[in-house]
Amino acid sequence: ELWPTEGKIEVQNLKVQYPNDGSSVLRTISFCASAGEKIGIIGRTGSGKSTLVKSIFRTVNPTYGQIKIDDVDISTIGLSSLREKIAIIPQNPTLFNGTLRDNIDFSGEHPDQELWEVLRKARLIEEHTSINQEGNRNVEPLTLDTNIREGGNNLSHGQRQLVMLARAFVNKSKVMILDEATANVDLETDNEIQKTMREEFKDSTLLCIAHRLRTVINYDRILVLDSGYILESGHPYKL
Ligand code: ATP
Ligand code: MG
Repeated sequence: ELWPTEGKIEVQNLKVQYPNDGSSVLRTISFCASAGEKIGIIGRTGSGKSTLVKSIFRTVNPTYGQIKIDDVDISTIGLSSLREKIAIIPQNPTLFNGTLRDNIDFSGEHPDQELWEVLRKARLIEEHTSINQEGNRNVEPLTLDTNIREGGNNLSHGQRQLVMLARAFVNKSKVMILDEATANVDLETDNEIQKTMREEFKDSTLLCIAHRLRTVINYDRILVLDSGYILESGHPYKL
């Protein structure tokens, strides 16, 4: 019931091959994230970063190897349970049809004031409303009651990712996995969000896939993926 309590992630000899595709996309990936560790994962496009995320969320099945979270092999956990307990922000998220409030707090247990604060932290609304109104005269600012339609197609790609981040702020998980969650926001916003994430997820294990090394420069460790292998692993300043 309480799993995961620590958030230790072990990826052991993971191989992944997509059906009807000759070569392995991940070829023997192994690493361990200790409880609370913040790991940045970078690598060129097509190197297999999202495939690693999908393996943890079990949208693809490995052809070999296993992933353990707090010593439990995730293939033994029910899919819905796994996806409920682990927070993943996919590279291209789909939202629910409903209000923004429904999308960040399914339980409906959190007071509006807290949810507004979360929208601010996720940079979905500006701290200084006046600047927002100056800059975007034609754009209606988001509110908790904004309707999300067609899986979120009435929001930008970056905004959909920030909604997922807001959801993760509301429903804290011991394991957080972000697949380029801030790739579609400007650098300054990215820096601010990373700072907020360090505070919000200080007790969680974080795997953060990033396009820019800058995004994850303050992380404990960086893994560099290249054509399905871990090419390098080390402290961000040593790479
Ligand atoms: P990006 O930085 O562009 O997001 P990535 O590192 O996340 O890239 P992946 O999405 O993991 O890369 O893809 C790795 C390889 O797997 C690519 O060569 C891609 O073509 C292939 N691939 C990804 N998804 C599938 C799929 N559903 N079926 C077949 N091949 C796939
Ligand atoms: Mg990807």
